[in-house]
Amino acid sequence: MVKPNNYWYYEVSKSAPQYALRYLSSAWKRCFTKVSGQPKFKKKGRNDSFPAECYANTLDGSITVGFNHIKLPRIGWVKTYEILPDNVTPKSITISRKAGRWFLSFKVDRVSQITEKSVDVVGVDLGVKSLATLSTGEVFEGAKSYKKLEAKLSRLQYLNRHKVKFSHNWKKAQLKIAQLHTKVANIRKDTLHKLTTYLAKNHSQIVIEDLNVSGMMANHKLAKAVADMGFYEFRRQLEYKCKLYGSELIIADRWFPSSKTCSRCGTVKESLLLSERVFNCEHCNFSCERDLNAALNLAMAVSSTVNACGLDNADVARAKQE
Ligand SMILES: [Zn+2]
Repeated sequence: MVKPNNYWYYEVSKSAPQYALRYLSSAWKRCFTKVSGQPKFKKKGRNDSFPAECYANTLDGSITVGFNHIKLPRIGWVKTYEILPDNVTPKSITISRKAGRWFLSFKVDRVSQITEKSVDVVGVDLGVKSLATLSTGEVFEGAKSYKKLEAKLSRLQYLNRHKVKFSHNWKKAQLKIAQLHTKVANIRKDTLHKLTTYLAKNHSQIVIEDLNVSGMMANHKLAKAVADMGFYEFRRQLEYKCKLYGSELIIADRWFPSSKTCSRCGTVKESLLLSERVFNCEHCNFSCERDLNAALNLAMAVSSTVNACGLDNADVARAKQE
């Protein structure tokens, strides 16, 4: 009944409707096992994507990857802006559209490349003020992209206020807003990728805090800043990049008092206000920047467990080289 009424059915790769049913089945399975809620209908114009699968030996269903072009089933040759990896034959590809641009994504096998590490252990404290503070003293300023472009965004939305919904001018304005949102997301992605690649390539052991992100998001004052930094994404990227570059990711306990502990003498403070930017220890008169102190504590949390095994850092480094 679907096919005669919807002529476009024959214009798309046959795997697109097949995948729709497959995804629906897994969505209901997730719903019945109480993992997630009921599946919702996909809406045209929002998160547009469809998968195209390659069937060996069928003429129109093959995907061929060239230098900067790719052959898709049904669609044919498509030029790409980015240079594609060579010697790959993807089995399936997902095609998506975001803010007026089309994207292709497929899986590629990658061999892990072990890089030479200049630093053994590094503690990373994620903060709201700056994106990350390393125990080596390095500070990464976050690209607070949203804050910067917020004014521009709100102006666009303001100008759009009287436009008739679904009219041509409304659509044009909607696209502009979507493009700005994508720009914000891209700036954020770029900063995070640079930071996580730097960490995974140059450090043998990386210690991060198990941040209670949903707890922090519940605090309205912090929510916006936390969302702007993309903490979840930070951890996800570190997890796969550590595997790729041969380093180890260590996640400190959620209740480890990294900011309240003195990194020199180990005294734990009773309370520490969020506004206190400098850590001052009453015991040993140690004074240092709050985030740096937390990063130092995270790095030391690992050294102490290593020492408990009767090894010092030099031994560990030697064992690693062997
Ligand atoms: Zn102290």
